[in-house]
Amino acid sequence: MKNEYDITVIGAGLSSLMFLSKMLKNKPNLSVLILEQKKMIDHSQSFCVWEGPGLIDIEKEFKLKSKHRWNEILIEGNGKKIKKDIHPYRYVYHDGYTTLKLLSSQIKSKMKILYSAKVKKVTELDKNIQVSTSKGNFISEYLIDSRPKVEKDEVKSEYIQQAFIGSEIEVTSNYFNKFEATIMSFSKNKSETEFIYQLPFSKKRALIETTLFSNNPNLKKLQTKHAKNLKKYGSYKILRKEKGIIPMALIEAQRSKRIIKIGTGAGMVRASSGYSMRKIANWITECKEKTLTKNNLLSFSYSPNPLLDFFDKIFLRVIKDHPNKSPDLFINLFRKSNHKSFIKFLSDKPSWLDIINIIMSMPKCLMFKGLFKKK
Ligand SMILES: Cc1cc2nc3c(=O)[nH]c(=O)nc-3n(C[C@H](O)[C@H](O)[C@H](O)COP(=O)(O)OP(=O)(O)OC[C@H]3O[C@@H](n4cnc5c(N)ncnc54)[C@H](O)[C@@H]3O)c2cc1C
Repeated sequence: MKNEYDITVIGAGLSSLMFLSKMLKNKPNLSVLILEQKKMIDHSQSFCVWEGPGLIDIEKEFKLKSKHRWNEILIEGNGKKIKKDIHPYRYVYHDGYTTLKLLSSQIKSKMKILYSAKVKKVTELDKNIQVSTSKGNFISEYLIDSRPKVEKDEVKSEYIQQAFIGSEIEVTSNYFNKFEATIMSFSKNKSETEFIYQLPFSKKRALIETTLFSNNPNLKKLQTKHAKNLKKYGSYKILRKEKGIIPMALIEAQRSKRIIKIGTGAGMVRASSGYSMRKIANWITECKEKTLTKNNLLSFSYSPNPLLDFFDKIFLRVIKDHPNKSPDLFINLFRKSNHKSFIKFLSDKPSWLDIINIIMSMPKCLMFKGLFKKK
């Protein structure tokens, strides 16, 4: 195998595969190598997005195949239960394995993907980049880095982590309503924001996740809580498991002459929600008219939306300082706002009217506390 390329890409995950599937049109005049630490694409992830008017149709645009969609959304906690029919919008589930398989099959004739290649060191020299991996050393002129690592000085806000453990289960009774997704069912917790996320695929099957927004999540305790939560579904069989820790923060990735960061480590996770598929899709669609060449790689660097960052900064302060109040924050926002504004706001595509609608639905006192908090 040759060891010199025009561009090396670290990670064959969501951001790099979505990016390359769009940016390498036709037969690229460019040699590209992807280095991925995993042995192969696995079943450890799923990706949900809001879809509907004013949003890029991710399924169509990226030639993907979603597995399920919901039109009824529920948020509950503190004795309140808010259910909304979100028509003409929908909450769409993409199975991670199928998604990454489809994306990699779209690009495999245009580049080489090397699995089981864990990157250990990246050295940026004046004329090229040297990448040392468990499968040898590679040299390229440019590098796309999708490792999720975030340096301290790249964080431009409060830093919270979203930790979750999920199990896709099959129960014996007809427990679930497959038309209704529960995106947040809050549990009582004074020091962290804690909720159950429930996505039913049929009357008997659902993905159940126990989620924490925390300064320092304890995964052992989270596992115990999750096991306890699963008990409420009676007798069940686990079909698949997933877990993750995602940064909830405003991140401004460092730039250099030959390297761009993408994905989680570049701030493509929405700080107030922990979702990134929509942000990645929006970023790629904005670059859509361009074709990747080795001379224009740096022009693809991600730039955040300052207005949404401003709101997220306040959200993060409130979630961090008042975790006991964050259920009310989310419930009231969902209850009071028009669902179209709510979804477009969460999908990074709000109009000015949507922004006004969101501001009117926010608990003013709490948000002012977040706004005027001293560092
Ligand atoms: C279980 C789970 C569920 C999620 N659900 C949703 C959801 O429903 N909706 C949503 O919008 N977002 C969701 N997210 C968040 C986000 O969309 C995903 O984390 C998404 O995969 C981010 O894309 P990425 O390219 O930044 O990271 P990844 O997809 O994780 O890609 C990074 C890749 O780099 C590889 N890598 C890392 N270090 C090295 C190394 N040293 N050498 C070689 N390879 C390396 C990793 O193995 C990985 O394949 C979820 C995340 C997780 C973990």
